[in-house]
Amino acid sequence: MPLLRFLQTPQPDADLTRTYDAIVVGSGAAGGMAAHVLTSKGLEVLMLEAGKKLDLDRELKSMEWPYEHPRRGQMPPGHHALTLNEYTIRQPPYGAGQPYDKVYNYIQGGNGADYSRNFMVDEKDHPYTGTRYAWVRARTLGGKTTIWGRLALRLSDYDFKARRRDGYGEDWPISYKDIAPYYDRVDRYLGISGVAEHLPHLPDSIFQRPTRLTAAEATLRAKMAAMGRTVTPYRAGVTTDGLEHNKYRSRCFGRGACARRPGGCDIHAVFDSPTGLIYPAQDTGRLSLRTNAVVREVLVDERTGKASGVAFLDAETGRAYEARARVVVLAASTLESARIMLLSKSQAHPNGIGNSSGHVGHNFCEHIMGPGVRGLVKDRIGAPRTIDDGRPGGFYVPRFRNLKERRTDFIRGYGFEGSAGNSMFAASDQPGFGADYKKRVRDLSGAYIEMGGFGEVLARYENYVALDPNTTDRWGIPVLRFHYQFGDNEKKMCEDMANTAQEMFEAAGFEIVGVSRTPLTEGWSIHELGTARMGSDRRTSVLNQFQQSHDVKNLFVVDGSSHVSASCQNPTWTIMALAWRSCDYLAEEFRRGRL
Ligand SMILES: Cc1cc2nc3c(=O)[nH]c(=O)nc-3n(C[C@H](O)[C@H](O)[C@H](O)COP(=O)(O)OP(=O)(O)OC[C@H]3O[C@@H](n4cnc5c(N)ncnc54)[C@H](O)[C@@H]3O)c2cc1C
Ligand code: SF4
Repeated sequence: MPLLRFLQTPQPDADLTRTYDAIVVGSGAAGGMAAHVLTSKGLEVLMLEAGKKLDLDRELKSMEWPYEHPRRGQMPPGHHALTLNEYTIRQPPYGAGQPYDKVYNYIQGGNGADYSRNFMVDEKDHPYTGTRYAWVRARTLGGKTTIWGRLALRLSDYDFKARRRDGYGEDWPISYKDIAPYYDRVDRYLGISGVAEHLPHLPDSIFQRPTRLTAAEATLRAKMAAMGRTVTPYRAGVTTDGLEHNKYRSRCFGRGACARRPGGCDIHAVFDSPTGLIYPAQDTGRLSLRTNAVVREVLVDERTGKASGVAFLDAETGRAYEARARVVVLAASTLESARIMLLSKSQAHPNGIGNSSGHVGHNFCEHIMGPGVRGLVKDRIGAPRTIDDGRPGGFYVPRFRNLKERRTDFIRGYGFEGSAGNSMFAASDQPGFGADYKKRVRDLSGAYIEMGGFGEVLARYENYVALDPNTTDRWGIPVLRFHYQFGDNEKKMCEDMANTAQEMFEAAGFEIVGVSRTPLTEGWSIHELGTARMGSDRRTSVLNQFQQSHDVKNLFVVDGSSHVSASCQNPTWTIMALAWRSCDYLAEEFRRGRL
């Protein structure tokens, strides 16, 4: 039974006969933030979301014990989650020819996957083609924020101005000082937990109460300090002290469900876009919402070349509709926003809207994962059990490569996410059976520690998505074809990642149980970025520093597609800080009649 359940004030229905001030496409981190900022500035907004509105409290059921679920949290028979091997040996579309009723991405292969199943797309309805890519998509109100992993990090000028340091790629058209006030606003409005470390390359947030490191993690922190590396408690996009201005969210009670299942918190201590942004925006009376609205293209006034609205299909009936607005804000996620732009061909924009540079879909980048280490902490073997997973995350090791020193084998950097201690599901790789086996599992289960790297994948023009001329989705809309693969820099970085992971655990006195050296399939990090990058030069970029199209001044694209480079820090807090900054600018331009 959820602890909190506030009724929303009655919502205005979407009225397709009127012209809204702005249409926001998508309701995840980016769309939710756009709706919050624009409605708070007095604009009348229509949000169109392709997925359903689900009752998050009922779906996530954070308080449900595994034995209360008919299948211990597993998906029903006939529902299949793609495996690493399938991604590796098969080519997309991964749902094609599968004997299952429904096929999902790899996230659904984990513990308690049934709790997130309804958020995720069925690969059979949503194909894509080209090179292999583990594309994780949530189609529901809130998008991927309904189940995200919560690690909330800032970027710094080591990221925004990386080209100045190593000569590669492009610098962002903004510096840290431009976005810092907006990171602060996101911190205060949504809540973030962590510890200030005063690192120039990973700026601190305005933190609420941190979660505690377990004993083994604290050992690692102490040993790493001697090596000049930082181990900090997970910087979680979670309100640990509560938010007085938000009646839909509770503070974290440390019940650990977010670590036991693929994300999600039914009391919304974890940020999710519906309770954090959309319901409060609806309470202004200025946000209309239509779910099951699959936007197909941005409509253009051929007289002016400006956006006039969008065309969409009802996801259930397939019927076509149009909605009108003075400004269109795309926030359908990095790859889906690029797809909509490419689909929006008109006389004024023959290559797709906002694509006079030819860069839409290109410079696609993300994070590479795979290398990591698992260790055994000897003084924890047989120790009394403690509730170590009653928290939203373990620890984070910020980047330490290519800061002061310059490596010759690769540029840029990587960080590690990890955790140690007891969890509800005992960690064990012990062989055997019977009483001895049970004792061994009990003794060892709280003694493991592990961490895995997330490294920057360089933005390259030749890594891109385009429309597939032959394949459409269930609604008859052309799908994306991927042309994407890791390069030499990423492979060299992964070798170093595995070596340093091992080196750190050895230095901390942990027994190495396993070192993984192989990169996972492209896409595994779920941090796709950069398909409509910002820049000052309209010949080589799609958007200006306010995520406004160079070509179409009343078109904004406020999701991760605007990232110029991936950095190695998880992107969601930056997506929201940028969206806030751009929507502030949009509202002011709108007020002055310049859009
Ligand atoms: C399991 C998991 C763990 C993660 N962990 C982290 C983490 O620890 N830290 C971090 O920073 N990030 C993490 N992420 C990534 C994070 O969720 C994304 O960065 C973030 O959600 C991106 O926000 P977005 O608004 O761009 O896209 P989304 O959240 O994907 O929202 C896009 C929305 O647009 C809708 N949409 C798409 N196409 C259309 C269309 N044609 N018409 C209308 N609507 C459309 C979608 O249905 C969706 O609701 C994780 C993601 C997952 C799935
Ligand atoms: S640990 Fe905190 S954030 Fe995670 S599910 Fe429990 S209450 Fe929510």
